[in-house]
Amino acid sequence: MKDGIETRLHVDAPLAVGGTVPLGPDQSHYLKNVLRLGPGEGVALFNGRDGEWRAEIAAVSKKSAELAVIEQTRPQRPEPDVWLAFAPIKRARIDFVAQKATELGASLLWPVMTRHTMVDRVNTERLRANAVEAAEQSDRLTVPDVRDPARLEALIEAWPEDRALILADETGGPPIADVLALHRARAITRAGFLIGPEGGFAEPELDRLRKLPFVTPVSLGARLLRADTAALAVLAIWQALVGESTAYHD
Ligand code: SAH
Repeated sequence: MKDGIETRLHVDAPLAVGGTVPLGPDQSHYLKNVLRLGPGEGVALFNGRDGEWRAEIAAVSKKSAELAVIEQTRPQRPEPDVWLAFAPIKRARIDFVAQKATELGASLLWPVMTRHTMVDRVNTERLRANAVEAAEQSDRLTVPDVRDPARLEALIEAWPEDRALILADETGGPPIADVLALHRARAITRAGFLIGPEGGFAEPELDRLRKLPFVTPVSLGARLLRADTAALAVLAIWQALVGESTAYHD
């Protein structure tokens, strides 16, 4: 522990009493050269399955490290089940969305290519790295899944029919708070949001989406929000009205 701030690392290895977890070059470098931690110092570990564990550095060099797993500090527990599908935006803003959506509890991040999407390549590894970092620092016990980009039509085909798809519709709709109040009343906790690109949805896309039985368009108010603002607003509102009140608390 450094300056009272706990170092948390996401790892893939299973976590159990007496186990050892090897680290690759990136995490080893981070512990040794960035945080300047050495043998005997404590680190918290989570892998999305086994809860959170206290571990101690057994050995650390520039290229590798070994952590001794000591004891569980938090059991794994259900986390909010809310997806974020969004038309990709430019680099700094998409990094921001991945980080902040993770902090706000998104369980899955899904880039979606729409007609007016201006970005044609998405670096999903980079999205994942941003999500991992945000999960580590926000005390999450999971990292959101990051899906490969899909065209809007493929997303519609693959969308589970029992998951409410809430469409952030800049052309209008019922206020998001009204729709989510209904979700809360009906204990609908499996949801996902869809945010359009900076150029907005094309009219045929909105027509197609609105006809689907699992889609509900919502308005986020009278102003036009940037796509990144809209993405974070919907998650914050969902957490406030639905998420923390049902799925998250024991
Ligand atoms: N350029 C478009 C706006 C796109 S804003 C236009 O001029 O119409 C990017 C995305 O953010 C939209 O597709 C929508 O999903 C979301 N969004 C922005 N403001 C919104 C609002 N007031 N209500 C609902 N969704 C909104």
